[in-house]
Amino acid sequence: MIQDITPHKLRNEYDPGKGPVPGSKIFVFRENKEGRGDREVLVKLDKEKMTLDYPKFSDISLTETYKKLTDAELVYLFSVDDDNFFLVDPVKEDVSSKDESIEEALGRELADQYSFVSFRELRSAYYSPKEYIYAAFTAYQLAEWYQVTRFCGKCGAANVNDSKERARTCPRCGNKIYPRINPAVIIGITDKETDSIILTKYRVGYGHNALVAGFTEIGETLEETVAREVMEEVGLTVSNIRYYKSQPWGIASDILVGFYCDVTGDKEIRMDEGELKYAEWVKREDIVLQPLEYSLTNEMMKLFKEKGYDGTI
Ligand SMILES: [Zn+2]
Repeated sequence: MIQDITPHKLRNEYDPGKGPVPGSKIFVFRENKEGRGDREVLVKLDKEKMTLDYPKFSDISLTETYKKLTDAELVYLFSVDDDNFFLVDPVKEDVSSKDESIEEALGRELADQYSFVSFRELRSAYYSPKEYIYAAFTAYQLAEWYQVTRFCGKCGAANVNDSKERARTCPRCGNKIYPRINPAVIIGITDKETDSIILTKYRVGYGHNALVAGFTEIGETLEETVAREVMEEVGLTVSNIRYYKSQPWGIASDILVGFYCDVTGDKEIRMDEGELKYAEWVKREDIVLQPLEYSLTNEMMKLFKEKGYDGTI
């Protein structure tokens, strides 16, 4: 899965005292021009060698755009082994009144080496080092959080970064905002009698086989989410809900929680056509996996296909 980067280690302890050195890596994101709600990351992608790299502080610091930023607008995110990663977080900028954002300007000035690439492209093949892909997913989630917490939701003042922990603090009313993570479940619904699992395809977005999935609502346990989503998306009741594994999925600010469960009673699928375009019982040997092994969904489908694993220990 995307987070499986051993022996490398992503360390996300907050350290506001950490400043960039010439070799530090810098994340620059911009809105996707096609307006899919996706963002793009500034990267050097070599499609022959299948490698990727991010701008270094020594590249960024030479640009005219960087000279307009303050130290506070370069935020320490995390480290991967000896690499420290920072985010350009232009808090003072009023992006709505400008033709070109700070991020766009940095992309223009570094265009001889780096270009903006969508996350869809970044995860469309196995680029290495793999830990840099996981770093981008994680940085994206932090960047989203930094972007939507620029102002205090209680009083509207501009927030500042807390000096001790990863939080935004309102200097006017004292409101403090911590990073938010959205829990969502992925569900392998199995039928022991026919040795089958339910595969789905979503109506919009990702085009490959998936499992039933959905977000946890406020006031609900994860197990209740599983039962509700199965009923909503395929009209079935399930029992014996058992946890498998979890996966951080930064480009949606999610923590995905994988469960297997057994169908009970009527097995006829009544698909939610607003959400899905395909939902069928598929026998183990007929399961078609996703093209890459980044997702928890794929790992769950693969384990069932190859080993008949259904979460039972
Ligand atoms: Zn406030």
